[in-house]
Amino acid sequence: MRKQIVAGNWKMNTTVPEGVELAKAVVAKAAAVPANVGLIVATPATHLTSVAAVLDSRVELSAENCADHTSGAYTGEVSAAMVKSTGAKWTILGHSERRQYYGETDEKLVEKTKLALAEGLGVILCVGENLEQREAGKHFDVCEAQIKNVLYNFSAEDMKNIVVAYEPVWAIGTGKTATSEQAEEIHAHIRKVLAAKFGQTVADDTTILYGGSCKPSNAKELFAQKDIDGGLIGGAALKADDFIQIALSF
Ligand code: PEP
Repeated sequence: MRKQIVAGNWKMNTTVPEGVELAKAVVAKAAAVPANVGLIVATPATHLTSVAAVLDSRVELSAENCADHTSGAYTGEVSAAMVKSTGAKWTILGHSERRQYYGETDEKLVEKTKLALAEGLGVILCVGENLEQREAGKHFDVCEAQIKNVLYNFSAEDMKNIVVAYEPVWAIGTGKTATSEQAEEIHAHIRKVLAAKFGQTVADDTTILYGGSCKPSNAKELFAQKDIDGGLIGGAALKADDFIQIALSF
């Protein structure tokens, strides 16, 4: 049975002290969330060590990105080993903001995913179409290609440590949410694409999150869909109350 997860992506928000306070508030409220719902907070790299110190085992820590090299002359980059050494268990990879603003290609994501898995980090791999691609009716093809280009390089065993996040770019930070039908049809398609490579059992066991203006008011309807196993939450993860309310929406 696949795991339900609600993961917060703080993006480039909060100072370290503010992030520590936010993490403490999430921990304080986390007991209300049923144990079968995994809780993750993804923080800026600067925050990882300090936030790790205030989390308990109920709320897991994630980076928002990690490097496509192990170490060396890559100024400003943070390696998977560095992330792991903070106490983080996860890294987000391939967020659309990374793809759009920092030239993150599927090829780079293969390298990053390999390095993250080799360090024992779980990977939350983001895929999703932009507005132009959706309007051109290419959303299924775009997501399918992103999944194939990255995940088809990995094994069924690797998939145990990989979560997929479907995040339509036009819905991220815009207030526009995909309807539950729009989200469900892509989630079901992603699961089909995973089944074609790894078999139905692996596909059925893979957690697929929805991301894109998910908030307390729409989480319930989204999470009620058969193939939506939780959310990757941006803006609403910056308020502990909203984040926990979303986690209570299954
Ligand atoms: C995200 O950044 O992954 C995201 C889904 O953002 P928001 O919830 O703000 O749309």
